[in-house]
Amino acid sequence: MEKTEQLLHKNTFDKSDIVHLLSLSEPAERALLQKAAFATATTFLGNNVYYRGIVEFSNICTLNCYYCGIRKGNNSLHRYCLSVGEVINCAKWAAECGYGSCVLQSGERRDEQFISFVEACTRGIKKATVSDTLPEGLGITLSLGEQSRETYQRFFDAGAHRYLLRIETTNPTLFTSLHPEEQVFANRLKCLTYLRKTGFQVGTGVMIGIPDQTVEDLADDILFFRDNDIDMIGMGPYLPHPDALIDNSSVMDNDALLSLALSMIAVCRLVLKDVNIAATTALQAMVHDGREQGILYGANVVMPNLTPTDFRKSYQLYDGKPCIDEGKEECRNCLKNRIESVGRTVGWDTWGDSPHFEARKNDNNSTPARE
Ligand code: SAH
Repeated sequence: MEKTEQLLHKNTFDKSDIVHLLSLSEPAERALLQKAAFATATTFLGNNVYYRGIVEFSNICTLNCYYCGIRKGNNSLHRYCLSVGEVINCAKWAAECGYGSCVLQSGERRDEQFISFVEACTRGIKKATVSDTLPEGLGITLSLGEQSRETYQRFFDAGAHRYLLRIETTNPTLFTSLHPEEQVFANRLKCLTYLRKTGFQVGTGVMIGIPDQTVEDLADDILFFRDNDIDMIGMGPYLPHPDALIDNSSVMDNDALLSLALSMIAVCRLVLKDVNIAATTALQAMVHDGREQGILYGANVVMPNLTPTDFRKSYQLYDGKPCIDEGKEECRNCLKNRIESVGRTVGWDTWGDSPHFEARKNDNNSTPARE
């Protein structure tokens, strides 16, 4: 207890501190961690939680990540792609509800038709959502995997300003065991660099509780986020999918996994301080109030689902995805109450950018950009 209290007063953390905090299992110590993380979130980001309405616009995928339910080799799903008009309509609805930002996510494609589709959606959303409250339209985050530098530039020029590309794990051996050989760890790192150079607010994250992942690996993940000056974190528990190609026999039990996922949010908040951290849908898949718990442990972003209900069942990255039978209206009403129940407020009609990004932008204006 004493050691934990001491650590929670620190401002900078080394790997052994992080391992200690991630390993806490005593309820009283975990409560201290939770309180400290919530207080740090309040200090650096205020009381608001921001919405990013997510449109999962297509499950067509050219890759075969072994853990993922929509991987190319899974023939048991109906493949779909919304039209540009449908995507814009989802985003318009979000803007009218005061969401402030949206995320476009899909399976991974790199063909010209796909790239111009994303450009058309991005430009269309910007045009359709300008209002007095949102003079530059909705904030747009993309989550479309590894692309070329030119493609990232095209997406940025079309008006997207944030990009989420999870590193999945920073342990290269573990990364290799999760992906076919054409998917290379070094390329993912390169993509994160491209995104940063293009001018995006850069988000990354990991899956927590992957078979064979250790607490030391997770501590390295947090140090990676810090050392790469990441602006936003989207991470969540690893949840087995019945059609996955990895051996899921050694996955953690539910309670331990939920605790670890919440601890990761808390320790990220303590170490990284001013970044945006999402309480992801995968947390909610584990327990009905998973996102609220994520907020209590220091998260400040949630991603309500805007995908039309008919398509949600075909976009199950993992088993037990919540809300697949609900519509976006239900998601909106339910979430506001959930956020207020833990003492936060919703940041309506604003992009809710990462203060970390603002700080590094100002830094970069005074000192040469880091290569
Ligand atoms: N193709 C894009 C976006 C879709 S996948 C991309 O790869 O970036 C989005 C995220 O879902 C992945 O980064 C991964 O971390 C997560 N995911 C996929 N399968 C999962 C599983 N079985 N459990 C938990 N998260 C999973």
